[in-house]
Amino acid sequence: MIINKKRNSMSKIKYVYTFGGRTAEGKADMKNLLGGKGANLAEMCLLGLPVPAGLTITTECCTDYYENNCQLPASLMPEVWAAMQKVETNMNLKYDDAENPLLISCRSGARASMPGMMDTVLNIGLSSKTIPGLIKKTNNPRFVYDSYRRLIMMYADVVMEKAEDLDPAEGKGIRKILDEKLDEFKRSRGYKSDTDITGNELKQLAEDFKALVKKYLGVEFPDDARAQLEGGIKAVFKSWNGKKAVSYRKIEGIPDSWGTAVNVQAMVFGNMGDNSATGVAFTRDPSIGTNVFYGEWLINAQGEDVVAGIRTPNPLNNDTKNDQNKHLPSMEELMPEAYKELFDIRCTLENHYKDMLDIEFTIQESKLYMLQCRVGKRSGKAALVMALDMLQEGLIDEIEAINRVTPDHFKQWYLPVLNPIIEATHTSIAKGLPAGDAGAVGKIALTCEKALEYSANGINCILVREETNPEDNDGMFASQGILTARGGMTSHAALVARGWGKSCIVGCDAVHIQNNKVTIGGIEFNEGDTISLNGAKGFVYNADIPTVDPDLTDSRLVAFNKLFEKYRTLGVRTNADSPEDAQRALDFGAEGIGLFRIEHMFYSKGNEEALELLRNTILSKNFNRDLLKKDIKKETDSKKLDDYQSNKTKYETFINNLTRLQEAIKIETKGTLKVMDGKPLTFRLIDPPLHEFVPQAYETEKIEALSKQKGLSFNELKKILEDLHETNPMMGLRGVRLGIVYPEITEIQFRALFEATAELKKEGCNPQLEIMVPLTIGVEELKHQKKIADKTQAEVETKFGLKIDYLYGTMIEIPRATLLADQIAEVAQFFSFGTNDLTQMTLGFSRDDVTTIVKNYVAEGIIAADPFETLDTKGVGQLVKMGLERGRKTDPKLKIGVCGEHGGDPASIEFFYQAGFNYVSCSPFRVPVARLAAAQSAIKK
Ligand code: ADP
Ligand code: MG
Ligand code: MG
Repeated sequence: MIINKKRNSMSKIKYVYTFGGRTAEGKADMKNLLGGKGANLAEMCLLGLPVPAGLTITTECCTDYYENNCQLPASLMPEVWAAMQKVETNMNLKYDDAENPLLISCRSGARASMPGMMDTVLNIGLSSKTIPGLIKKTNNPRFVYDSYRRLIMMYADVVMEKAEDLDPAEGKGIRKILDEKLDEFKRSRGYKSDTDITGNELKQLAEDFKALVKKYLGVEFPDDARAQLEGGIKAVFKSWNGKKAVSYRKIEGIPDSWGTAVNVQAMVFGNMGDNSATGVAFTRDPSIGTNVFYGEWLINAQGEDVVAGIRTPNPLNNDTKNDQNKHLPSMEELMPEAYKELFDIRCTLENHYKDMLDIEFTIQESKLYMLQCRVGKRSGKAALVMALDMLQEGLIDEIEAINRVTPDHFKQWYLPVLNPIIEATHTSIAKGLPAGDAGAVGKIALTCEKALEYSANGINCILVREETNPEDNDGMFASQGILTARGGMTSHAALVARGWGKSCIVGCDAVHIQNNKVTIGGIEFNEGDTISLNGAKGFVYNADIPTVDPDLTDSRLVAFNKLFEKYRTLGVRTNADSPEDAQRALDFGAEGIGLFRIEHMFYSKGNEEALELLRNTILSKNFNRDLLKKDIKKETDSKKLDDYQSNKTKYETFINNLTRLQEAIKIETKGTLKVMDGKPLTFRLIDPPLHEFVPQAYETEKIEALSKQKGLSFNELKKILEDLHETNPMMGLRGVRLGIVYPEITEIQFRALFEATAELKKEGCNPQLEIMVPLTIGVEELKHQKKIADKTQAEVETKFGLKIDYLYGTMIEIPRATLLADQIAEVAQFFSFGTNDLTQMTLGFSRDDVTTIVKNYVAEGIIAADPFETLDTKGVGQLVKMGLERGRKTDPKLKIGVCGEHGGDPASIEFFYQAGFNYVSCSPFRVPVARLAAAQSAIKK
C-alpha cells in the first residue's frame, strides 16, 4: 500500500544509491532501505576509509521485483548504468572495456545480518572481450584465469542454477561438480593448494568448467559483461527466497517481507599474488570478549576462501594464534604496514560505532581495502564481557551496557559444562577450535536428518560434519553440540553455534567421515555412539561425561548482575517443587517460589511411597457420601444396615489413607519451606485430575498387577478406574473442584502446611507461606475452601500454641475468573495468573495436542507466535489486564503474579511489567533471564 502511494505521487522511485571516494548517498542508519551491508559501506566511505566504489540497489526494489512477478522494474537498469559511470570515474576503469576493464561483485545484503544465507558473485565482467585487456594490463594471466574460473563457479551456481530454480543434476549441484573437477585436477597433479595451480592450467580449467556448465545446465556461460551484471542482480534478489535464507529467517524471526538490497561494487583483488590477500576480523574476540584484535587471513586468495574453510587461514596477529594456525605467519609479521593501517581502522570503527565490529578486507598488491563492516555476532560470554569493558572504557553508558546483553546472551553464562571432575579422569581423543562454550554429550549424528530424528525422540545428539553450511541450520539447531573437521573460528558452524549457545568444536582435523562412520583421533565410531564435547577448550571425548552447572561466582557475571539489578522493580520467583530446585533457583537469584506443585512429589524418583499413598487414597474413595449422612440408628432392615456399615468402613479407610498422605505432604513441603526460609513459598492445592495417578481403565496388564498388589478383584478395580474416566479431563474434576467434591482432600493439605509452618517456627525458622486455590471460577469456591482452612488453622494453632500467618490467594486461569476478579479479590489476598490454562481456555487450544495446529497457524500468519510460549497479548493479554484491573479496584494493594510458562519469556515479561504485575515466576533455569528481561523492561519504560 505504502509503495503504491509513493508511486502515484512520484514520477520515478529512486532505486540506486552510490558510494565511493569519501562520499556516499547513503549512511549507516539507512539499513532498512540499503540493507546492512550497503548502509555500512556508505558509512565507511563517509568516514574516509578505503572502500572500492559501488552502488546499492534498495530493498524496496527487491519488494517491487517480487510484487512484479520476478521482473526488474523498468527504470532500474538505466539507473544502474548511469550510476556505474560514477563508479567507473571513481575507479578510473571502464566496465566491459577491452583495454581497461572494471570488474564488479554483486553482493546481497539484508536489513538484518544473515551471514552466508544469500548469494554473492565476484569477478563479474570477465569475457572474451575483457580478458585479454586485463592480462595485458596486469601482466598476470594466472590471476586473470583464477578470477575467471571463480566467476564461472559462482555464476553458474548462483545465477544459472539456483536463480533458475533448476534441480541439481544427478543429485548434485553445478558448484559441487565444478568443485570436484577442481579437486580431481589438483589430485592428478599432486597439488595441495589452489595456489599451486598455474595460469595455463587455470585457463584450461576455465574452459573445462564452461563445457561442464553447458553439459549440466544446457546453456552457454554468458560471454557478455552487461548481461552478466543484470543476471547477477536478479540472482541476488532471487536468493532472498532461497531455501537456506527462508529457513534462517524462520529461526531468527526475520520477516519475509523485508527483502534484500544488492550491492554492485568494484572488485579489488586478493588473488593477484603473494602481496595480495583477503581476510575477516573482529575488532574484539567474539567468543570470550577480550579486547584484542581478532582475525584470520589468506594470502593470494579471494573473499570467501577464508570463511569457506578451504585452507586453514593464517592468524591475523599474535593474539589470534592457536594450536591449529601458530605455524603460519601472521599479517602483523608479513605485511606490517597494511596491518598497522587495518589496526587503526579497527579503532576508528569502534570509536564511531561504539561496538564490536565484524570486518572484511582485501589487500591488492599491498594496498588495503575495506569491503564490509557490521556489528559483530558474539557469544553470550563475550557480549557481557564487552559490555562491561566498553562501559569502563567510557565508550557506552550503563543503560547501553545492560541492553547490549540480550536474554539469550545472558542465558549462556548459566549453560551446562562437562562435569570437570569426571572430565579430568578422561583423556581427550581429539582437539579442535573451541567455537561454542557449552559442554555437550550425546549420540553422534552424521546427517541433519538423523539429528532431527534424535531430537524428535528426545535424544541428545552431536552433529559431526566435515563442515557445515546454511543448509544444515535445522540439524544444528536440533543438536546439543556440533563437531566439524574443517573451518576456522569464523566458519559458518562457529558463527551459528555461538549465536545459539550451542557446544561447538570446529577445524578438528582428527575427524574423518566416511560411509556412515566417523574416525575421531584414530578411533572408529558409528552413528549413535556417544561422545562428549568441551566447547570452551575444544576437547572431544570418547566417553559419556555428564554436564553440570556453570560457575556462578565469576566476577564478571557478579558485576553485571549488580549493574542491572539496580533497575529491576518486577519481582522474580521460581516454580519449584523440591529443596534442590528451590536452592538452584535461589542461586540464580529467585526471590521466592511462585508455584509449588505438590503433585510433583508423586512423580519424583525416590518418592514411590508417596505415590502409593496417593493411589490408596484414590482407590479408597468409592464410598457413598449420601449414605454417610443417613441416621442408621432408626434403620431396621439388616441388608441396609450392612450397607451402611460397609460404607462407613470404606470412608474410614479413605480418611485413614488421607491422614497418612497428610504426613507425607507435611514432610515434603517442610523441606522446601526450610530452604526458602524468610522468602515466600506459594503452595498450590492439588491440581491434576486423579486418573493421572492410576492406570487407565483399558490398561489390562497394569490393572491386573495393581489389583493383586492392592488385594482388590480385577473387576472391582476396573470399575473404580472407569468411574474416574473423564471425556475431557482438562475441563473436569481437577483443581478446586476436587476440593469441593472431597473437602477432606483440601483439609489434609491445609493441615499439612500449617503443621509444617508451626514446626518450623518452633525450630526458629521464618516460613512465609502462601496458599493458592487453582482453577477458581468465582469467589464462592474460595469462600467454601476458606471455611475448611479457618477451621484447620484454629485447630493447628491450638495444638502448637502459636499463631500462623499465611496469605490466602487464588490462581486466575479460567476466563470467568478474570471477569469476576473484583469479587474474587474480596477474599483472595493475591492473584497468580495461570497463563497456560488461561491460554488453553481462551483460545480453545488443548495445550497437550496443539503442536500441529500452532505450527500451521504460525506459518500462515494467523497467530504471531506459539501462544503457549509467548503470551498472546492481543487476546489473552486483554483478559489478564482486565483481571488485574478489576482485582485492584477491590483491593488496590492486591499482589499479582504469573506462574505460567510465560513468566520466563522475555517478551511476555515486558507485558507483565507494563501491566503492573508484582512478580513473575518461572522455572529455575529461566530465573536469570527473567531478571535481566525485567530490568530491561524497566529501562525501556
Ligand atoms: P557475505 O554476505 O556472504 O559475507 P559478501 O557479499 O560479503 O557475502 O561477499 C563474499 C566475499 O567476497 C567476502 O569475503 C567479500 O569480502 C568478498 N567480496 C565481495 N565483494 C568484493 C569486491 N568488490 N572485491 C573483493 N572482494 C569482494
Ligand atoms: Mg560478507
Ligand atoms: Mg492450571
